[in-house]
Amino acid sequence: MHEFTLLFLAMLALSLTLRFWLSQRQIRHVRAHRDSVPAAFADSISLADHQKAADYTLTKTRFGRLPMLYDAGLLLIWTLGGGLEWLDQNVRALGYGEIVTGIIVLLGFTALSSLLDLPFSLYSTFVIEERFGFNRTTLKTFVTDMLKGAVLGLIIGAPLLYVILWLMQQMGELWWIYTWLVLTAFSLLMMWIYPTWIAPVFNKFEPLEDGATLQRIKALLQRCGFSSNGVFVIDGSRRSAHGNAYFSGFGKNKRIVFYDTLLKMLDDDQLEAVLAHELGHFKKKHIVQGMLISFATTFIGLAVLAWLMRNEWFYTALGISTPSTYMALLLFMLVSPVFTFVLSPLLSLFSRKNEFEADAFAAEQTDANNLITALVGLYRENASTLTPDPLYSAFYDSHPPAPVRIAHLNAHTR
Ligand SMILES: [Zn+2]
Repeated sequence: MHEFTLLFLAMLALSLTLRFWLSQRQIRHVRAHRDSVPAAFADSISLADHQKAADYTLTKTRFGRLPMLYDAGLLLIWTLGGGLEWLDQNVRALGYGEIVTGIIVLLGFTALSSLLDLPFSLYSTFVIEERFGFNRTTLKTFVTDMLKGAVLGLIIGAPLLYVILWLMQQMGELWWIYTWLVLTAFSLLMMWIYPTWIAPVFNKFEPLEDGATLQRIKALLQRCGFSSNGVFVIDGSRRSAHGNAYFSGFGKNKRIVFYDTLLKMLDDDQLEAVLAHELGHFKKKHIVQGMLISFATTFIGLAVLAWLMRNEWFYTALGISTPSTYMALLLFMLVSPVFTFVLSPLLSLFSRKNEFEADAFAAEQTDANNLITALVGLYRENASTLTPDPLYSAFYDSHPPAPVRIAHLNAHTR
């Protein structure tokens, strides 16, 4: 057995053990705190709501272990088990050139993977979300979403793959620099067109109607010197009762988007505070930093891939007999998360630092109490646990645990 096979197996076992251990901690922690509402929330969250959040978290965490195992098993079958080798040899037998063969293999793999994933997404939407009263998706919407996603993926993905595989083949040693430039330009383009071309394929966008709410929002935007291409409401309630708000696009093409479900949960004061928090992410340059981090990560990833694909062992150690550009790409995308999982707390740390900064910005622009009541309302309506295990949260959560976040905001109240 090649050393790289051993390293891969060891890292897979390590990350799987780590994930299981973390989920075990989360389950134990949430269960231990199920019977009493944390003191800071005693006035605002009822015991029934607290227990619903605990049960929702426990159900999702317990169920989440099954796909964890399943995915690891699939990864082994695809690589060492010969699944990719089988796919590759069958597509090669069709006799197309390297690039077209590559596109068929990569798209075929993506289609097979999403089919294999289907039972879990069905169960999570129609059983778990349903049981806790969050699901609004019909089977028809679910299927339509999948088909739309597949068509979009094909229209956007196939030409992009063609360009990347062509660069890998034609540009010699430095292909990865060119590929990086193309990917960077592509992701900027996608951010630019997402709000106006892609998001409307899945949701209906309507401008927020004029009234007290819109006036409050406009005043806040003006106060913060923020220009946008409109404030919109989308029909998030078609799929889920969970509420959300986001910004999309950049430059002059920025849109502020509220889920209709969020508008139902919050009053105007709270909505203003939530928007001020989102504006904080812009004003503190978090969006730009996030983009730069992702460009830098892609740069490093491509450099590593350029080195790996020159070595025959990279293929053979992962069950592939015939080296090729597309297989290098596919193996890299499949296997690298196994090696980078241990780094996820770093990203969460960065993200939580940003959340504190955005909260502080919101507290300067509006009344911190409004953000506190808004967050508490959202925790309650979304059944988010107030008592996550600290280590589990440090690994996975992009936002600070509820009590920590509220305590920070309380320090800002006047
Ligand atoms: Zn935030």
